[in-house]
Amino acid sequence: MSKDFFYADPANISGQFLTIEGDESKHIVRVLRKSEGELLWVVDGVDRAYEVVIRSIQQHTVECEILSVHERFNETEIEVTLAVAVLKNPSRMEWLIEKGTELGIRRFIPVSTSRTVAHSPKENRLKKIAHSAMKQSGRSYLPQIYPITSMDSVMHHASVFDLKIIPYEHTDEALFIAEALRHRQKPTSALIVVGPEGGFTEDEIHAAEEAGFVQVSLGKRRLRTETAALVAASWVIGNY
Ligand code: SAH
Repeated sequence: MSKDFFYADPANISGQFLTIEGDESKHIVRVLRKSEGELLWVVDGVDRAYEVVIRSIQQHTVECEILSVHERFNETEIEVTLAVAVLKNPSRMEWLIEKGTELGIRRFIPVSTSRTVAHSPKENRLKKIAHSAMKQSGRSYLPQIYPITSMDSVMHHASVFDLKIIPYEHTDEALFIAEALRHRQKPTSALIVVGPEGGFTEDEIHAAEEAGFVQVSLGKRRLRTETAALVAASWVIGNY
């Protein structure tokens, strides 16, 4: 049987012990019917996984003793941030958060661009989706989901990333992403910026060029924003 992962708030982890509470503890006790002495895998959402043994089951909590700690458990070596034009259809954004979390993306930044129809994604719902995708995929890091950020601000903060990638379909010069990534010194962080349904404006592409972004092609077909985002992220993650 595949491993189940449970979540413990880092505030409830101290020394050799941790406490699982809320729905998580209900699930362990009432649904899975775990008992004292059984082993569990627990992640804390901030890069650590623990193998623990259940020591005591209370009405609303499960108290565990830590047997081993694993740093950056199942996390990618490269830290990928995905800045993606806000999607009109909220369910597509939810899909992207779920799949992107499974892939290993560490940060999602919804971006307002010149051709984005601005509206706010439901942050709490997106966080919940990231949370279950983290556990489901066995990650130890809960990806951060930022509030909507302007394209200008994304460009302004881009300099901290080793590798900056902008998939762009309206250029013959852009290399296919696999080519563009080849022979590059191994980056430790990457920022990928993906445009909206209406595409980037020339000004935005120009600004990205100035900020040191590499334009890449994802092939001859025009992909939807969320598809382009996942494809680009998987090339980057797979390559490093
Ligand atoms: N409106 C544009 C398509 C936008 S697709 C048009 O008329 O052609 C949404 C975003 O996905 C783009 O801004 C780009 O970042 C990315 N994208 C989609 N297909 C791509 C491809 N084949 N190569 C590179 N980027 C692509």
